[in-house]
Amino acid sequence: MSEQRRAELAESLAEVRARIGAACADAGRDPGEVRLLAVTKTFPAADAALLAELGITDLAENRDQEAAAKARELSGLSIRWHMVGRMQRNKARSVARWAAEVQSVDSPRLAEALAKAVRAALDDGDRAQPLDVLVQASLDDAEGRGGCPLDELDALTEVVARSSELRLRGLMAVAPLGADPAPAFARLAAAAERTRREHPGATEVSAGMSGDLDVAIHHGSTCVRVGTALLGGRGLASL
Ligand SMILES: *Cc1c(COP(=O)(O)O)cnc(C)c1O
Repeated sequence: MSEQRRAELAESLAEVRARIGAACADAGRDPGEVRLLAVTKTFPAADAALLAELGITDLAENRDQEAAAKARELSGLSIRWHMVGRMQRNKARSVARWAAEVQSVDSPRLAEALAKAVRAALDDGDRAQPLDVLVQASLDDAEGRGGCPLDELDALTEVVARSSELRLRGLMAVAPLGADPAPAFARLAAAAERTRREHPGATEVSAGMSGDLDVAIHHGSTCVRVGTALLGGRGLASL
C-alpha cells in the first residue's frame, strides 16, 4: 500500500519537477531559484512523510488544527511547515508552535498577533527561530480570499519588517478565480519589486499552484505551492 503510494508520489513529483524545469527553461531562469512547496492539506500525515522521504521537506497546510496534528505526528522528521491559508488571529498562538513560515499574513493586526505569539513560543522554548513571513497580496480585491490590498502593502510590510519576531521574506498571492492569471502575476511581480526596494531581504515571490505554476514562473515566482498535481484531487469539499 505505502509502496504503491510512494511510487505514485515519486512519479507525480518527477512530472512537477519537469514542469518547473521546462517553465524555467522557457523563462531563461535557473530551476534552483524556484522552491517547491507541497500542499498536503486534506491528505494524511503518511503522505507528508512519504514526500519528506522523497526529499520534499517544505510542506504547506491551510488549516491550523489539521497542520498542528500532522506536525505533531511527524515531529521526528525535519519538515518545514508553512501556513498558506487564511487565519484568524486567535490561531496565532498555535500556528507559532508548528509553522516555520506563514505566507498568508494580510493585516497589521494579524502580524502583531503572530509576533506576540512567536515571542511567547520562543520564551517557552517551543520554537528556536523567528517566524518567516510572506505578506499575502490581493490581486483582485475579492472579499473572502484573503490578501492585503496593493495600496496597503507598504504599511503592512513595514509592520512585519519592524518586528524582531518576524522575518519579512517576500510576497505571496493566489491568482483571481476564473481570470487569466498572467496579468495578475505581473501585478504581483511589480509589487514584489517595490517591496524589495524598501526591504532587500524580501526576495520571495510565492505564486503558482497546480494549474498555473508555469505562468507564475514566467512572472518571477520563486516558490510554487502544489497540491493536486502532486497528491491528487481533493474532491469538492476542500478548496
Ligand atoms: C490548496 C492551495 C494550494 C494548492 O492548490 P493546488 O491547485 O491543489 O495545487 C496553493 N496555495 C494555497 C493558498 C492553497 O490553499
